[in-house]
Amino acid sequence: MAKILDKQRYKCALAAMQTVQAIDRACPVLHSGPGCAQKLSDTTGSSGYLSPQIFPCTSINEKDVVFGGVKKLESTITNALKVIDADLYVVLTGCIPEIVGDDAAEVVSKFADADKPVVFAPTAGFKGNNYKGHEQVVEAIVTQYLKKSDKKQKGLVNLWADVPYQDLFWLGNIRELENLLREIGLTPNTIFGYQRGIDNINKIPEAEFNLLVSPWVGLKNMKTMEKRLGIPYLHYPVLPVGATETSKFLREVGKFAKIDESKVEDVIKKHEDYFYYLISRYADLFLENRVINKQFSVVADAQYSLAITKFLVNDLGLVPAKQFVTDDTPKEFQEQIKAEFQNLNYGIKADVAFETDGFNIHSEIKSHDYHGYPLILGGYYEKEMTEKLNGNFLNISWPVLDKVVFDDFYVGYTGGIRLIEDIYTVAVQRFN
Ligand code: SF4
Repeated sequence: MAKILDKQRYKCALAAMQTVQAIDRACPVLHSGPGCAQKLSDTTGSSGYLSPQIFPCTSINEKDVVFGGVKKLESTITNALKVIDADLYVVLTGCIPEIVGDDAAEVVSKFADADKPVVFAPTAGFKGNNYKGHEQVVEAIVTQYLKKSDKKQKGLVNLWADVPYQDLFWLGNIRELENLLREIGLTPNTIFGYQRGIDNINKIPEAEFNLLVSPWVGLKNMKTMEKRLGIPYLHYPVLPVGATETSKFLREVGKFAKIDESKVEDVIKKHEDYFYYLISRYADLFLENRVINKQFSVVADAQYSLAITKFLVNDLGLVPAKQFVTDDTPKEFQEQIKAEFQNLNYGIKADVAFETDGFNIHSEIKSHDYHGYPLILGGYYEKEMTEKLNGNFLNISWPVLDKVVFDDFYVGYTGGIRLIEDIYTVAVQRFN
């Protein structure tokens, strides 16, 4: 029997239009019904050079369902190329054209000689969520646009991490990861955000290796690039937040890139000294407060649930209750992610549930004894429930509705400090 999914934490694959939007001067061309883009766009931070309200769209209707929408798609791409000044056009299909069997790939192939590249990503909602859609967009660029290169730039590394817009901290996180790589002597290449874009896409084949910082999203793209472009990859499954994980991350990347160990250790020492200076200044707050010294749960996608659990245990010494992974992680990755939740400092292990249903998540949280005020880091859906439990709540995962994020970040040494600031800002408000 069909079930109703309560409070889902992702959108359909077509929401990967936001992945395209995150590439500077890239234009999504939607082959979908007229309401899809409106429904899938977030309300904050999604305007700019091209926004969902003006993405070219075939707006297919009943007539196209009966007679097919390929002619409309062809004219929409032709006109998008004429009137929208972009560097890359990515055609994305929604449910209706894929159900009625429109051959969008065939239509797009007619634009192989266009002045600007046009690629196609199948992103019908029934094929999966926007984590998968994100992978489809990168896959389309790699397989339909990029060519293998014999030219390699020493130290150039393609960096892949968050899913833009699904993670509100995507821009700040990727910039901070770039900064860290630069400090150990690498040249990071990313394709998302300000002043990146087609030039950076063109550099992808020249990289010495790909670095994927994610438990599972993007691994498919790494394998494709290894096969088609001959680029080896390092899969680092934990988004590093705070000193413990960031130092581990830098050591592993340094080793893979064959960077002089002492250079990496110098960078680590500089950051750790400052990180622990800040921690020691606030040790009284951590040790003496009576409101955040018990157990916590994170309700987020695999990326954040794992990253924040590691940080709160390894750097802050908190105790994990059950953790919830909400991104519909494919089965083949679940064991490996579970193992990471077991791999915490001091022999601590965290129990984890791969659960997409908000009702089930809330039922488990409500029935657990947190031995004091529960600390819940999750989506906005958890706010009301946590308040009823008299707990402390921080909105760190989609949907984020009680925070505006421009380029703030939680990754790295500085990101860890930002996260502590946010958590303890909630805590000190209890004293006021
Ligand atoms: S599920 Fe299908 S119809 Fe609904 S927004 Fe996504 S692509 Fe459009």
